[in-house]
Amino acid sequence: MLGSIYFMQEQGFFSENSNTSSIKIEDACFNFNTVSVLRDVSLNVEAGQSLALLGPSGCGKTTLLRSIAGLEKLKTGTISINNRVVSSSNTFVPPEDRRVGMVFQDGALFPHLSVAENVRFGLTNNPGRDNRVKNVLDMVGLAAMADRSPDNLSGGERQRVALARALAPEPSVLLLDEPFASLDASMRVQLRTEVRQLLGNLNITSLFVTHDQGEAFVLGDQIAVMKEGQILQVGEPNSIYEQPIDPWVAQFVGEANMLTGSTDNQRVITSLGAVPLSTQLDCAAGSSVDVLLRPECLEIQSGGNWLVSSVEFYGHDSMYQLKGDENKTLQVRSFTNLNYQTGDYVSVRYVGPPTIAYQSINS
Ligand code: ATP
Repeated sequence: MLGSIYFMQEQGFFSENSNTSSIKIEDACFNFNTVSVLRDVSLNVEAGQSLALLGPSGCGKTTLLRSIAGLEKLKTGTISINNRVVSSSNTFVPPEDRRVGMVFQDGALFPHLSVAENVRFGLTNNPGRDNRVKNVLDMVGLAAMADRSPDNLSGGERQRVALARALAPEPSVLLLDEPFASLDASMRVQLRTEVRQLLGNLNITSLFVTHDQGEAFVLGDQIAVMKEGQILQVGEPNSIYEQPIDPWVAQFVGEANMLTGSTDNQRVITSLGAVPLSTQLDCAAGSSVDVLLRPECLEIQSGGNWLVSSVEFYGHDSMYQLKGDENKTLQVRSFTNLNYQTGDYVSVRYVGPPTIAYQSINS
């Protein structure tokens, strides 16, 4: 377990206003040769907040993180940390003067240094240095392993050392690039929960890069969804999940059924019946739209014209794949053991909260 958070605060490990910086990115553009990697990216992370930058591989997440850290130089646009411009057309503050801590996917520890020496590495040579190393290792639950070599640590322990090393110099913001990607599934879940709690208690501003939506939901006070160098949507996890801005975001942040229907006031009339909408669509009554139906918002009952084509049992829930008329497909998640088998016929109804719909592509 990550350890003595309160001890760290009582000891004044983080000075009063060292951990409350904001990050502001305005119209950031970046190219690798002729390839445009960041396209007019604007983003705010408020002081003390955690933002998860979520997007598919190659969309530019790491490049944005490296630009904030000062490891890449923007083509155009501005980056400010704590209201101080660190990157613009006429300013470039070098990485070592930005007070940014970074944790990489593989930890990037120095193999020839011990755990304590790795953490001590970035600290200036002042009398409190050893005490700080001890405190920060205690905070991540590794005080007893200070003299070990990184080679003799588990993947999770190595990432804790990387976190301790990044936190030791009292960074003004913390940037984490897929910090749990190299861990096995259970360690990943455990560590992300612990890190979330730790950073929340320290009230440090943090920006996580991930392509795992579950991780983004756990770690982000806010989530920014990125695609092909652009930010598509920023919001709290529940609003990203329930009100995705377009079908692509809907499908990227979770399992999503899209069913075509026609609008009727604040409802969509579908083959499953009327589905309530959270907002009225800006289109004429009767227009063709695609409505978002999350699998857990559907309920199945015996008898009907949907064929159960497969059942996946996950222990706590099951996912039913259904086939309907005209090759329509649906996914239904059930948290109770329904005992339907492949080959059964069922009916489906919508039982979720008001949802969202989009103008049909073919309308
Ligand atoms: P991943 O999740 O796979 O790490 P990412 O979203 O972090 O991806 P980036 O690493 O920022 O994406 O890369 C964005 C784009 O820039 C990719 O198309 C990548 O191939 C390209 N790229 C990255 N580094 C370089 C480089 N040094 N030279 C040329 N192109 C690069």
